[in-house]
Amino acid sequence: MEGPKKRWSDAIIRPVKRTLFGDETYAGAAKGPECVDVVPLAQALRDVCSLRWEDWTDYAFAREPLNGRLNDELRAELMEGARACGDTWARFCEERFGSADPHDIARGLGVSIFLDEKPHSQDRVVFAEFVEPDRIYVYADALDKAQTLLDDPEVREALGPVSPQSILLAHEVFHAVELVGKERVWSRSHKVDVGFGLLHSRVHLAVLDELAAMGFAQALLGLTYSPYVMDVFLTYCYSPVAGSSLYHEVMGEQPLFGADEGKMEGPTG
Ligand SMILES: [Zn+2]
Repeated sequence: MEGPKKRWSDAIIRPVKRTLFGDETYAGAAKGPECVDVVPLAQALRDVCSLRWEDWTDYAFAREPLNGRLNDELRAELMEGARACGDTWARFCEERFGSADPHDIARGLGVSIFLDEKPHSQDRVVFAEFVEPDRIYVYADALDKAQTLLDDPEVREALGPVSPQSILLAHEVFHAVELVGKERVWSRSHKVDVGFGLLHSRVHLAVLDELAAMGFAQALLGLTYSPYVMDVFLTYCYSPVAGSSLYHEVMGEQPLFGADEGKMEGPTG
């Protein structure tokens, strides 16, 4: 099973890396960056901030390797389960540590926070990561870029008063909660039957950790929008083209990179 330290980046990096770093195979693809309709950031943020929790289902599950084995009914059930899990643990932590500040909860869990300039891993864009057993890295590179864009009053208004850093941090704190809480945390213990015919196996889905971490951050910080908005915002900070690609995918307007990407295609519904 994949460790939690890659989870946030896994949500965006595979398709986006190509746009950011000009992957050579991508350059010749049918839907190259030049085909992406770049959307003004404030408008993009207003749109994605207005989405409901369940509107992120296709986006979230498109990054789950076993998505092809799941049906819509199950996906809807898992979305709700993850939201409830994140919400429950946000309330628990707030009460247990007497604070809804992710810094305080990290401290209470014995987790150290490091603000680093650049990610350790150079082959992918990472905004923040939890490194087992007790370290969270938040990367200043993305946050510095975000700060510049937040100078635009329209952008600031769309995102509200909570800082991107707090959102990233709250998400990673949940992965620490999962590590400490183990099987008591639904996102970690819940198994899904992905079998067919006579062959059945119950497996853990990585997307549940991500979804519950988003639910945790949203509940803890009282956000009116999904923390998945940070995928669009912070990616836009690096590249308006890449950010707009994600925006279009999230809004269901087009597949991200065409049929050759298989399961990475955007929502079809
Ligand atoms: Zn994560």
